[in-house]
Amino acid sequence: MSKVKEINRRQFIGYSGAAALSLLAARSFAGDLNRPSNGQFLFLEAEGFSEHGGWEIDQQSMDQMGSPYLLAHGLGVPVKDAVAQVQFPSAGTYRVWVRTKDWVAPWNAPGAPGKFQLLINGVPLAETFGTKGAEWHWHNGGTVEVGGTARIALHDLTGFEGRCEAVLFCKDTAFEPVNDVEALTRFRRKLLGFPDRPEYGGRYDLVVVGGGLAGICAALSAARRGLSVALVHDRPVLGGNGSSEVRVWPEGHTNKPPYPSIGDIVTEILKPINKATAEGKWFGTLNGTAASNFDDQRKLDVVKTEPRINLLNNHRAIQTLTSGNRIQAVVIQSIRTGRQQLLEGTFFADCTGDATVGFQAGAEYEYAFSSGNPLMGSSNLFNVIDASNQKDVLDCDCKDKSALMTQYQEGKYEQPFPRCPWALDLSDKPFPGRLKKQATGTLKDLKSFANAWYWESGFDKDQVNDIELIRDHNFRAFYGAWDALKNVDGLYKNFRLAWAAFIAGKRESRRLMGDVVLDGKNFTEMTDWADKAFPCSWHIDLHFPEKKYQAGFEGNEFISDFTRGKDYKYSGIYWAPYRCLYSRNVGNLFMAGRNISVTKTGLGPVRVMKTCGMMGEVIGKAAALCVQHGTTPRGVYENHLAALQEMMKQPGSFRTA
Ligand SMILES: Cc1cc2nc3c(=O)[nH]c(=O)nc-3n(C[C@H](O)[C@H](O)[C@H](O)COP(=O)(O)OP(=O)(O)OC[C@H]3O[C@@H](n4cnc5c(N)ncnc54)[C@H](O)[C@@H]3O)c2cc1C
Repeated sequence: MSKVKEINRRQFIGYSGAAALSLLAARSFAGDLNRPSNGQFLFLEAEGFSEHGGWEIDQQSMDQMGSPYLLAHGLGVPVKDAVAQVQFPSAGTYRVWVRTKDWVAPWNAPGAPGKFQLLINGVPLAETFGTKGAEWHWHNGGTVEVGGTARIALHDLTGFEGRCEAVLFCKDTAFEPVNDVEALTRFRRKLLGFPDRPEYGGRYDLVVVGGGLAGICAALSAARRGLSVALVHDRPVLGGNGSSEVRVWPEGHTNKPPYPSIGDIVTEILKPINKATAEGKWFGTLNGTAASNFDDQRKLDVVKTEPRINLLNNHRAIQTLTSGNRIQAVVIQSIRTGRQQLLEGTFFADCTGDATVGFQAGAEYEYAFSSGNPLMGSSNLFNVIDASNQKDVLDCDCKDKSALMTQYQEGKYEQPFPRCPWALDLSDKPFPGRLKKQATGTLKDLKSFANAWYWESGFDKDQVNDIELIRDHNFRAFYGAWDALKNVDGLYKNFRLAWAAFIAGKRESRRLMGDVVLDGKNFTEMTDWADKAFPCSWHIDLHFPEKKYQAGFEGNEFISDFTRGKDYKYSGIYWAPYRCLYSRNVGNLFMAGRNISVTKTGLGPVRVMKTCGMMGEVIGKAAALCVQHGTTPRGVYENHLAALQEMMKQPGSFRTA
């Protein structure tokens, strides 16, 4: 219900904002070279379209390019139109601008795969979009005559990741909108009628940013201890990499002595499952398998029934306000409507993975990458199905499932896939799943191709600021590989890509520094800590480009390898200290997840999701002690460690009245 309201508001302000701008233009844009001469516009945010059809909202790069956008993620099958009913300020001639890009242009790759059209009352503009420019820019769509209202549609032509951020209609046909992101943000927000300052969103004992396993568990644990909690998460579903959008299977042992209750909340929010009962295709892994295995609803249900949590999903934290060495508030923005709110907090938990809140607050952090010192890369898992197998077709998460079902009923199983000249050219290159010996073209041969963690890239790139490029490189890799298998090797005629993540699964970026910086050596030497807080069981598992597949792709690697040999192992469950869960220089900042206080080698074992969830459980309890005693996260270690340990012995379901 509220969603509908929000969208209607956007459609409405598309019009009223235009009217408001004519008043604003003379004042607010005075001196701006982009000042419109008559102030009559219709600005449509793509994410604000009332129907998204088969297009997906992508917010991953909004801090860099200025807005969420719609992505035609169809795996080579054009997606259904996104549609908006709009009202123009008046009938007449408008110039149309579409903010988009040619997403393969950064590699000078040919073919512009992300082509789409803009339909006005069903009629396409002459211009085809997604065909120009490596950067986000306004693509001139020419002029058009319109009446008072119209049906606007984004019409995908390829299913290959076309993208549209906004559409702007200008009555002044000589007006050119600005491309600079900051100036565009000011222009956009004025035009859409947003206030200069965010609305007040309330005050909380604890503001948790990031709703992966770490953030969910932190929010639940704190709320059950009596704190008022805001949980801010920039996707519709909770779970981060462990959601159906990314489909990485959570690992790590829970409920271990001496604190066997640590892990209770992790267990509560995850669907009990094992490989034998898992749904959908899997090859000895649950990564990338059916959405149902990841049970997004279960996580949402547990969080939504917790009365002290205000869940703000579909909201991204975009700014952090500080005073002295403390965070006062975060500014969050709806990824659907653009509305901004200011959330004040006594304590904050950075569970973003990228340490966004800590970074913005000036917390000390580490983050270094180069080809000689690679990061672990990001992945976009994908899976395939056999269209001649009825169960596969029935289970498929494909967007065009009904068309596929019809094909099945008609006995048409063959699944052609177009050549992809814009993808990585793997026609004569090795990659996992391309067998040296004669492949039979059956599912078994695809075992090392699909659902695999090692399709990974961006090792020497900025995983925070270049994530669109890194994700797009992953697209080019798996589309190129599938093209090679289908069209060069002539295999798997009845198989097709069924699902792929468009949200990149990240592994490594900034790490915030705490009072202890946990290192791989602490694991191998089994350093004993007085403030044991969460059990670690994953290996010292770091990734880097796999040499076997590197030739010809240096700097653009797409397959990883992992640490092997003696550096990989340590003996048994290892309890990591509480002191790596808070910032050493921002007084009211906790962290949980992969952005905690560890060195590069320390990240290897702590980063798996059940372990991240247990960090969240502990900081929720510590935050309650902070509120109760008016102390800081460090103060809990210095003065209330015994109380924290007592709480850690109590079950995850324990509630303070
Ligand atoms: C392909 C792959 C395979 C892996 N294999 C495994 C495995 O088998 N098992 C395992 O347990 N782990 C595995 N990992 C590692 C694991 O997934 C990550 O280390 C883990 O997800 C980190 O958890 P987190 O809660 O810190 O971050 P995330 O899971 O990334 O959750 C953080 C969430 O915060 C949101 N967010 C970020 N910034 C903001 C903001 N500004 N405002 C609001 N929300 C924000 C993000 O959208 C994200 O959903 C793998 C990772 C990948 C990519």
